[in-house]
Amino acid sequence: MSIQLFGVNVSRGVAIGRAVLIASSRIDVDHYYIAAEQADAEVKRLLTACDSVSGELEVLQRDLPSDAPHELGALLDVHRMLLHDEALIGVAAGWIRERHYNAEWALAAQLEVLVRQFDDMEDDYLRERKSDLEQVVERVLSWMRRSRSPADAFRGVTGEDPLVLIASDISPADLLHFKRSIFQGFVTEVGGRTSHTAIVARSMNIPAVVGAREASRLARQDDWVIIDGEAGVVIVNPSPIVLDEYRFRQRQADVERERLDRLRHTPAVTLDGQRIELLANIELPQDAAGALAAGAMGVGLFRSEFLFLNRAGSLPDEDEQFEAYRSAVLAMQGLPVTIRTVDIGADKALDRPGSHDQRHEHGLNPALGLRAIRWSLAEPSMFRQQIRAILRAAAHGKVRMLIPMIAQRNEIRLTWEAIRRAQAQLDEAGKSYGPVEVGAMIEVPAAAVSAEMLLSAFDFASIGTNDLIQYTLAIDRADEAVSHLYDPWHPAVLWLIENTIKCAIKLNKPVSVCGEMAGDPQFTEILLGMGLRSFSMHPAQMAAVKQRILRADAQRLRQPRADVLQRP
Ligand code: PEP
Ligand code: MG
Repeated sequence: MSIQLFGVNVSRGVAIGRAVLIASSRIDVDHYYIAAEQADAEVKRLLTACDSVSGELEVLQRDLPSDAPHELGALLDVHRMLLHDEALIGVAAGWIRERHYNAEWALAAQLEVLVRQFDDMEDDYLRERKSDLEQVVERVLSWMRRSRSPADAFRGVTGEDPLVLIASDISPADLLHFKRSIFQGFVTEVGGRTSHTAIVARSMNIPAVVGAREASRLARQDDWVIIDGEAGVVIVNPSPIVLDEYRFRQRQADVERERLDRLRHTPAVTLDGQRIELLANIELPQDAAGALAAGAMGVGLFRSEFLFLNRAGSLPDEDEQFEAYRSAVLAMQGLPVTIRTVDIGADKALDRPGSHDQRHEHGLNPALGLRAIRWSLAEPSMFRQQIRAILRAAAHGKVRMLIPMIAQRNEIRLTWEAIRRAQAQLDEAGKSYGPVEVGAMIEVPAAAVSAEMLLSAFDFASIGTNDLIQYTLAIDRADEAVSHLYDPWHPAVLWLIENTIKCAIKLNKPVSVCGEMAGDPQFTEILLGMGLRSFSMHPAQMAAVKQRILRADAQRLRQPRADVLQRP
């Protein structure tokens, strides 16, 4: 039966594929297709892993101290039985043979199927057996991870059915695992349009819907699924007519994309001759190549915190950060790179034990808590370490440093103190560094209202509309329950953006917008009308915005926008 689900549209386009359901805890399992002739060898790999784990458990059982509780031995018996269970291992072998999934994926996929069956059970005892199953699978996956050669992770073939990912939630850090994966689209049950998970999806340029409640309960492993990223609709088991219609739309979108692609190296100049700067937002240094290929004139926002995520507790030291920043700078071939100092906190918490963010992670209101510059100032040596790495990278190209969420005089003073101390430390250590312009991110309404005061202390400004909207309208950007209230057109939001741009122009300081509004063509004209001449967005959004710019007359757009500002 076909099922239609509604969520929040976060990344355009249509994806059609078979569902891969993944629990967030197993998100880092490799997914790739094997060649049909490798199926026997792959099944053997699975069975070898099961036998080896069974052997490990046997040793464990044999070495149990004599006074160990009897239940422990019985539990190990159950686990060993599961390792040869037809419903788990036999069916997983079937996924390998019939669908050509790699062994880890097949096992994780079958686990998902069984876990669901357990969840539906009335009997508490049986329901709890689910954790035995999960533990056994975890052991097998971990054995395979240890015994895998590095080449295994990426060997794979194409030409099989396309796949879409369905999960209850995916953290922004986990989504990075999928940046170069085989998934053609994804659906989550939670999240808002400008949650960081959605932002990373947009950077991957794959259709995505978030906040589709019950998606992972209503779709089953391997079901055909359509993701309509434009409308925010997910169709599970579509009828052949619906499937045909969406295949048609997919082809149309491909044609449109190819057409826009031709604008890649056309300068972004308005009809009245205003040259507009289009910059790229990136998450990782490797993204810089894509920015350049898309025709970006530089990086307007490098979200450096992604270097700090997915690291199981360890954080990048100064040298590692320096290498990362330098590689982005070199990749941009002389174009400027704006590195934002870490924006840790809220929906991007660290996994470092005992850190401030851990303690605050489950606090009452993480978005209003110790986040971004507040976090950096609470960790002064980490902050200086990052600043030193950024200054050193500036010896290799044009680098700008951007401070997120700054709003208070005291923060301004402490930030500059940290920069001066970092410079002094580099002088002392005899390390070379380059000049860096320092900019303020305008993301807090207080900062936008007092933009003149704030901007006089900085070299440039960048407006983070994602947070500015969140804080102005008191709407958690990651919460799908209030995503319908997240309104960039709200007069208060537009006023704050306009005020910031006006102040920057008055003070003769460069100003850019780097929030999602910059990459959404429906806002191009109003931002141009406010006097904005620099936009920073994911490379995939650049051509569509450029098209709007090429058709715009910036002078005429300067007319009062009373109609918009007074919209009821
Ligand atoms: C913003 O808030 O608009 C922004 C660009 O930063 P981030 O989305 O990373 O919070
Ligand atoms: Mg922000």
